Amino acid sequence: MSSVLKEFDAITKIPRPSFHEEKIRDYLYNWAKERNIYVESDEYKNIFMIKPASLGYESYKPIALQAHTDMVAEKALGVEHDFLNDPIEYFIDGDIVSTRGRTTLGADNGLGMAIILALFDDNTLKHPKLEGIFTSAEEEDFSGAANFDINLIQSKYLINLDCCNDNQIVCASAGGITFDGYKQLCYAELEGEFIDCKISISGFQGGHSGEDIHKGRGNTNILLFRLLHLLSDLDFYLLDISGGSFRLAIPRESSATIRISKKDSNSLEKLVEEFREILILEFPNSTDSIKIEIKETKSNKNPIKCKTFNDIKNYILTSPVDIQIMSNSFENLVDCSCNLGEIFIRDDKMVIISDIRASYDSQRDFIVEKLKIIAKTYGLDYKTYGEYYNWQYKKESKLRSLVESVYTKNNREQVEIVAVHAGLESGFFDHKKDGMDIVSLGPNSWNFHSPMEAFSISSLKYFYKNLIEILEFAKF
Ligand SMILES: [Zn+2]
Repeated sequence: MSSVLKEFDAITKIPRPSFHEEKIRDYLYNWAKERNIYVESDEYKNIFMIKPASLGYESYKPIALQAHTDMVAEKALGVEHDFLNDPIEYFIDGDIVSTRGRTTLGADNGLGMAIILALFDDNTLKHPKLEGIFTSAEEEDFSGAANFDINLIQSKYLINLDCCNDNQIVCASAGGITFDGYKQLCYAELEGEFIDCKISISGFQGGHSGEDIHKGRGNTNILLFRLLHLLSDLDFYLLDISGGSFRLAIPRESSATIRISKKDSNSLEKLVEEFREILILEFPNSTDSIKIEIKETKSNKNPIKCKTFNDIKNYILTSPVDIQIMSNSFENLVDCSCNLGEIFIRDDKMVIISDIRASYDSQRDFIVEKLKIIAKTYGLDYKTYGEYYNWQYKKESKLRSLVESVYTKNNREQVEIVAVHAGLESGFFDHKKDGMDIVSLGPNSWNFHSPMEAFSISSLKYFYKNLIEILEFAKF
């Protein structure tokens, strides 16, 4: 067991933010060479290793173990850390390993890599032939997994080690695609007395556009356009807009700068105040943090023609947002959702970005079709990109049954079989080869992608012991 921690310790010393995986690729390559383990690499900085079956296991089917090599680079305010060059400094406080809130720890997915290396380095274990897959850029665009040459592997059984609960077996994940709507802006000539003001809505919780989409946290892009719609009777023009900062996050703050006829400025204040009261009623848990402000300003932006603005507003207000379909096979699982993550103006075009996730490709395609219809109706151009595959639930899975029996035997609590409303690399491997049998597993770890990231040593120990037993019983 201490072998896993030893491997993890070495990995924390190697800088490896996404798209900068050269050092970890070289480290893994040399690690295998030094031990006479078969290894190869590719142009995407993926690494592939083979460990032969142990004595007596030669006739059983091989099993692949998979982890990603990159990590999210996030640090707390005021912390100095160069993710391209500095090692991750971590602390052990009792059972918990963390950076004490300074930087991301890289347990996601350094633990997965450390577990594979420890298994490959231990010649006392019993197991069929093992194939080690280390993929790059998972946190960015999945390009490692997407481009991994599936012909390298013989395994039909694959254990992805990118999960964070030692009692859960993940058996399905969502696929997704991004849909950008564009509207060429036309400008108006104004006469009369106007003032400029900036309306901002902020203080919402935001969160992960998949895992938090069902939590009713409010999407400030939609709320802002609800408010602008309430102002329909006033004489105003949109000058500028900025909503959300990342398509995969639920937007927490959005603002619009408008030019409004002087005579209507009092009505504006009254309507904004009424909307504030609506928001406080609809979001009782965020009453203290919700802010909706109007500030007088002076803008050098051009006023957008009413017809153009109305097309944009109608597109946004009729777009699919939040939960679209709930699962009928997993309790509380969102099957399909759409996050209107970003709105901004670039090169005289309004850009509206929606990110779609779905358990089934057919649901994803249906939402894309809906958006196309709405875009065409209101004269928007569009494009789709960033597609990744779903990993569909299989009723029959020998590997899942084996993991379930080992987890249940060594049980501390009821084993959970779960599907996630987020993308996993398992989706790519499921699509690359017919008949793949995949599970996604891992020890208890928390707060991935944040400086609060941490994991439990006792859970890692428990998980590693279970994994050894799974490989020992994997006589497929
Ligand atoms: Zn991960």
